[in-house]
Amino acid sequence: EAKNRGKNCFKYFSPNIGQRSREMATIEQRLHLATENQAFELHYQPILETSSGQIRSFEALIRWNDEQLGRIPPDKFIPLAEQNGLIVEIGQQVLNQACEQLCQLHQQGYGSIKMGINLSTRQLTRPQFASEVINTLDRYRLKPSDIYLELTETSVMKGQKQTVRNLSKLSRLGIQIAMDDFGTGYSSLSYLKRLPIDLLKIDRSFINQLENDSNPAILSAIITMAHAMGLEVVAEGVELESQMRFLSDHNCDLVQGYLFSPPRPADGILELLQAQPVPLQQVSA
Ligand code: C2E
Ligand code: MG
Ligand code: MG
Ligand code: MG
Repeated sequence: EAKNRGKNCFKYFSPNIGQRSREMATIEQRLHLATENQAFELHYQPILETSSGQIRSFEALIRWNDEQLGRIPPDKFIPLAEQNGLIVEIGQQVLNQACEQLCQLHQQGYGSIKMGINLSTRQLTRPQFASEVINTLDRYRLKPSDIYLELTETSVMKGQKQTVRNLSKLSRLGIQIAMDDFGTGYSSLSYLKRLPIDLLKIDRSFINQLENDSNPAILSAIITMAHAMGLEVVAEGVELESQMRFLSDHNCDLVQGYLFSPPRPADGILELLQAQPVPLQQVSA
C-alpha cells in the first residue's frame, strides 16, 4: 500500500519513526534521572527445591516505576541501559540492594537463603568487576556462597576474554554462576562445559511447551545431560501443577514460577518464608 503512494511514501512512514525515536529519547532521559536518583526497586521471586518444596533462594528482578512514564518493564529499559552504558551503575545499585535485602533476611533467621542476581555483559567486561562484587559482599557481611550470578547465553557467547576471566575469578572465590534462559541462544551443553557454570536455568518456553504437542523428551534430556555435567537445574516459568509433576518426575532440582509466587516487593517475602513448613532438621536441632 505504501508503495503505491509513491512520493508520499516517506511522509507515510516518518511520523511513526519520529514518534518512536522521540519516545525512546524521553525514556533515555528519564532513565538517566532514575539512575541518578537510585529510583529502581527490586522485586523478589522464590526458587523452590522440587523435592521438599522449601525456598532455596530468591531471584532479584528490577522494577522501574517512573513518575512521568509509569511502569517500564526491564525487557524495555535494560537493553537501552546496556547500549548507553548506564547498566554499569544500575547493576551496582541492584547488587547493593539485593545484598542489603539478603543481609536482612539472614538477620531475621533465614541464614541459608541465597540470592540470584542478573548480570549484563557490559558489567562482566569490566576488569574490576570481580573485586566490586567482593567488596559489596564484605559491606553487607555476606559470604560468596550466599549469592549467585545469572547471565544469559548470548552474553557469554560473545566470548570476550575479560568475561571469561571475570567468571573464573568469581567462581574461584566461591560465587556460583547460573546460565539463564538456557535453550534460547545457540550454545550447547558441551560449550558450557568450558565455563565455570554451576546452575542451568531452563527457559520458560520449554516449560510452556509441555502443554502443546512438542516433545517432552527434549526437556528431560536437558535435565539428564545437565546432571551428567554436574549442574543443578532450575525450571523457569512453572505455572501449572501438570508442569510441576513432570519436572518432579524427571528430577529437576529447582522450580520457579507463578505457580508458587510472582516476584514480590521486599515487604512480601518474609511472609512467604514464614508460611513454609519448618524442615525436620530444624525442628530436632
Ligand atoms: P529473567 O532473568 O529470565 O527473569 C525471569 C522473568 O520471568 C521475570 O520477568 C519474571 O517476572 C518472569 N516470570 C517468572 N515466573 C514466571 C511465570 O511463571 N510465567 C511467566 N510468563 N513469566 C514468569 P521480568 O521481571 O519482567 O524480567 C525480565 C528480564 O529482565 C529478566 O529475565 C532479566 O533478563 C532482565 N532483568 C531483570 N532484572 C534485571 C537486573 O537487575 N539486571 C539485569 N541485567 N537484567 C535484569
Ligand atoms: Mg534471571
Ligand atoms: Mg530467565
Ligand atoms: Mg529472561
